[in-house]
Amino acid sequence: MSSSLATVAYIGATILFILSLGGLSNQTTALRGNLYGMVGMTLAVLATVFGPQVTAAGLPWIIGAMVLGGGIGLYAARTVQMTQMPELVALMHSMVGLAAMLVGFATYIDPTASAGFEGAAKTIHELEIYIGIFIGAVTFAGSVIAFGKLSGRVSGNPVLLPGRHWLNLAGLLVVIYFGGVFMQAHDVQAGMLPVIVMTIVALLFGVHMVMAIGGADMPVVVSMLNSYSGWAAAATGFMLSNDLLIVVGALVGSSGAILSYIMCNAMNRSFISVIAGGFGTTSTPKPAAGGAAQPAGEVTPVTALETAELLREAKSVIIVPGYGMAVAQAQHTVFEITKFLREKGVNVRFGIHPVAGRMPGHMNVLLAEAKVPYDIVFEMDELNEDFPDTDVTMVIGANDIVNPSAQDDPSSPIAGMPVLEVWKAKTSIVMKRSMASGYAGVDNPLFYKDNNRMLFGDAKKMLDEVLTALKA
Ligand code: NDP
Repeated sequence: MSSSLATVAYIGATILFILSLGGLSNQTTALRGNLYGMVGMTLAVLATVFGPQVTAAGLPWIIGAMVLGGGIGLYAARTVQMTQMPELVALMHSMVGLAAMLVGFATYIDPTASAGFEGAAKTIHELEIYIGIFIGAVTFAGSVIAFGKLSGRVSGNPVLLPGRHWLNLAGLLVVIYFGGVFMQAHDVQAGMLPVIVMTIVALLFGVHMVMAIGGADMPVVVSMLNSYSGWAAAATGFMLSNDLLIVVGALVGSSGAILSYIMCNAMNRSFISVIAGGFGTTSTPKPAAGGAAQPAGEVTPVTALETAELLREAKSVIIVPGYGMAVAQAQHTVFEITKFLREKGVNVRFGIHPVAGRMPGHMNVLLAEAKVPYDIVFEMDELNEDFPDTDVTMVIGANDIVNPSAQDDPSSPIAGMPVLEVWKAKTSIVMKRSMASGYAGVDNPLFYKDNNRMLFGDAKKMLDEVLTALKA
């Protein structure tokens, strides 16, 4: 493929990626957005593989790597459980970081990659390599720890080293100092030591940064690492002089940054305080995520039959889904119940918290999969004022996002986080298996409120029973 044809293909792919992002911003156009992205990526890969930068000798290697990588990706995508999606995404971010790191080292070592760079161009090229490896290493290490935290392999509690901000600052100074040494190195041998030292510091920084972040702040980390992976890809584009990679990386980087901002707003956190780590964790120690919190009162259990009775008598119902709905894969039954109630004239709506589940948009994806109409799915801000006029709220496998202590208890690790005020409805019903806490590991006073009922059991199983009782 000629160089000009490859450029045209790259421009086409860039436009498709922008259209894709535009499409993904709305549920009704998301499918089309995905399609644009897929066509754009196919075009980009073909233009790169058959473009002027790949020699005939390199082609078998690239195709071999693509078959291997594609096979692993296909297998992972087909076998991954919906609940494991967030960990898979974190793992993929780590791969982008690792790729940027390796490309950086390869570009530095390969004499042909640096040939032709003289004077200022050489300085810029080396700076690209140094910064590219740095971003790649931070993204790689941070994402591996995020994977560990999301999959429960690493504790969700923040690890706060003494003087951690000073440690970070010292690390930054070391990176800057060795950057100077690297730029002054006359050959690859002399430049290797500073770049290796910087890589180790960047890896430690990535680990430290994510380890210091508490469970409830993880959504921001996930979106932030998404952004970092974009910048890592852009850095790779600079190193490989690939314009498309630069543009695509910048698109991912900036959209991830916007998402991080939205998530911070949703949690009422300042971005800097989340990144600095340990926000809101100076208060009372909390139990491990998902562990059993100490019961703080009496709860009122109900049966599926009683739940059906409450629903049958209701005029308005708000359903609040959370991570447990994803675990139980209860979304289809939720939709069946919704359909049944709507046919009986009940006003059924869904309230979605921005950090519900384990990844941004988690609940929207599940509800869309179950074909719940978009026009009855509302964001937290759109619905919070309506709870006092609601007869029944059904909380399905949600916990932290409906925890009143975020408003009432300044010492709570989730203090200040806006929550769905489900307890303001006439009756709230919480569906979960036990009294265990949610991801943030805090007890939930909602469970003990007079107008709250607990429907204990697996969400799918209990909802099936509710549906049967409704239809009886
Ligand atoms: P939570 O983790 O707070 O609570 C989920 C609840 O679901 C648990 O208390 C659990 O209780 C229950 N549950 C689990 N399995 C089942 C099942 N099979 N049937 C019924 N219930 C079940 O989830 P929320 O959605 O309320 O809040 C999300 C939390 O995750 C927030 O703290 C958020 O910060 C964090 N987070 C969010 C991310 C995002 O991007 N959205 C990313 C990372 C973290 P029990 O065991 O008793 O059944």
